[in-house]
Amino acid sequence: METLSRMPICRVLTKQQKKWLDSGYCPTCGLPKKEWGRRIDWTCCSKECTEKYQECFRVWQYWKLKVFRRDKYSCVKCGFKARTEKIIHPESKKYYRNEGKLFGVILEDKETAKVILGDESQLIGDHIFPIAMGGEEYEMDNVQTLCKKCNKIKTKEDIKKIALYRKQHPSQTDLSNSIVPPSNSPTASSLHSENIICIKEENQK
Ligand SMILES: [Zn+2]
Ligand SMILES: [Zn+2]
Repeated sequence: METLSRMPICRVLTKQQKKWLDSGYCPTCGLPKKEWGRRIDWTCCSKECTEKYQECFRVWQYWKLKVFRRDKYSCVKCGFKARTEKIIHPESKKYYRNEGKLFGVILEDKETAKVILGDESQLIGDHIFPIAMGGEEYEMDNVQTLCKKCNKIKTKEDIKKIALYRKQHPSQTDLSNSIVPPSNSPTASSLHSENIICIKEENQK
């Protein structure tokens, strides 16, 4: 079993940080927009905060690709294969054969310089056992590849399960007293599962 517990949080924000993001505050430090020293159409208040925010995102991208590659860019529920064909310059064949693997080249290139790439834009990295119910977020075993259609179905099921879970465990979902103070670089190990939240929509980028 592989875990990424030492990696920074990616797209998994504290409840407080999620609130900041939703309210238009800097999601990294919580500074309100009127106090920003930069354009307010940015996500974060400063270059430093943006870097921290992006670092988290990049780690998530890496993490998600690992899961997709393990599942061969296919939905584990319905078997849908996310593939995209690309014609490349013959000179870049070597790149795609070697470094290109990082970007999901899963089939060989032919004489035509056509490569088949795994297309992550059609896939979702799904937590099998929802984080909101205490599921592990950084364990490969708890993340699976789903197509968008199957993810919709799964999300509906999850919402029902989570609602039931919250009814049965009211104390664990009362977050009003457990908001953590702003933290510049939250790590998976420094946060409890009850005050972190997964932002699923960013998953699809
Ligand atoms: Zn900030
Ligand atoms: Zn599917």
